[in-house]
Amino acid sequence: MLTCAKCGACSTVCPVFRTSGKESHTARGKLHLLDTLGLEKSSSVFIDIFSACLLCGACSAVCSRQIDINKELIVARNSFSSLAGPHAYEKYLARKLLDYPGSLTGLRILAKTCGKVLGDKLPRDSGLRLRLALFEGDALAVSDDGQHGEREAVNTGVSLVWFPGCSARYLFPNILDSCKSLVSQSSFVLHYPDDLVCCGLADCAAGDFASAQRKARRNIEVMGATKGPILVTCASCYAHLKKYSELFTHDAHWQTRAEEMALRMMELSEFLANQSVMHSAPNTEEEQKLRVFYHDPCHLRHETPSVDKAREQLEKTGKMEVIELPGGSRCCGQGGLFHVAHPDISAAIRDQLVQDVLALKPDVVTSTCSGCLMQWQQGLVAAGSEIKVLHLAELLKYPTPSARRVSMYRFQDIKVNESEKN
Ligand code: SF4
Ligand code: SF4
Repeated sequence: MLTCAKCGACSTVCPVFRTSGKESHTARGKLHLLDTLGLEKSSSVFIDIFSACLLCGACSAVCSRQIDINKELIVARNSFSSLAGPHAYEKYLARKLLDYPGSLTGLRILAKTCGKVLGDKLPRDSGLRLRLALFEGDALAVSDDGQHGEREAVNTGVSLVWFPGCSARYLFPNILDSCKSLVSQSSFVLHYPDDLVCCGLADCAAGDFASAQRKARRNIEVMGATKGPILVTCASCYAHLKKYSELFTHDAHWQTRAEEMALRMMELSEFLANQSVMHSAPNTEEEQKLRVFYHDPCHLRHETPSVDKAREQLEKTGKMEVIELPGGSRCCGQGGLFHVAHPDISAAIRDQLVQDVLALKPDVVTSTCSGCLMQWQQGLVAAGSEIKVLHLAELLKYPTPSARRVSMYRFQDIKVNESEKN
């Protein structure tokens, strides 16, 4: 484990270190603590330091010794009590909630109601207001005004097993509808097995291997009873499901089943790249291309970069221009439950990214990770911006997305007049 060369390459890419400036927050710092103190000497300060990691994978991607730092940190967290560290009870409750993800629907309704009642009474930068903003008029959702039309379905009835992720399934139904709409143009029919559970990424990140394995076994079993490809429309769920076999290194039976499942899996943009779902529409009107900022989910960017075909799909519409940050992609600071444990660091990482992206003057921000989308939504509201955040499926769902339509998304109270409809 401890073959760190102390080269410092990890420090240059660590979003937490860039924000806090603390050496103990780098991968090098944490490995040094493990080497010198060991887990048995862990104190609350030690636990706090080990919780201050987004598990973004940026450090492992540049590590000269190819250390799997996420793995080392998760193993370390496994030795701590679930109720230790900053905001431990909130994190624990959030994980337990994911044992019953159906309850998220009730929370969504409650949050929408609270948002309506509290409205503008809360200060703009209030944490509660930012959380409620996620559900304001289905903030992450685009209400279909019926003018875009569903393209004629051409599917031939081949089943495509679907893992939408808990957020899309229970919190943001428009993401769900958009995925269905997109896939309806392919040769597949989506099949959502009712018995699927949360992917277990939050449990794994917390070092709760027993719970992570329990969820993994259930999903492997449910998907193992189906045939054909598996579509995963949340990037972080995809990255975690793909690595299920690592949870069973001492159990050949489940490891093999996990590997078999992984071979059937496709991430959304990868799936679209293999279909004739998206195509360039002829330019029938003089229209400015939509300026789209695509936020790379860290789990795809560092763990399975070759899979991500989102930019390709956006450009392929012929109606969008993908704009890039000069220094390359950056983490949004959400990190699963990291934003609960370290809200200040998380918000600082987010706000700097939001400011830098707003300087590029995007029309819309898109991504495929539900956590990133929520973080972006909160960041843009905190910055006072009306730029819309959409899941990739929401943006690609229409054959000819245009600047006019996205402006409609942003200002949903603007009604389309009759001539525009025709
Ligand atoms: S995983 Fe990300 S946040 Fe954690 S130490 Fe590595 S670069 Fe820093
Ligand atoms: S990049 Fe790897 S080898 Fe270099 S300091 Fe960081 S953890 Fe150690």
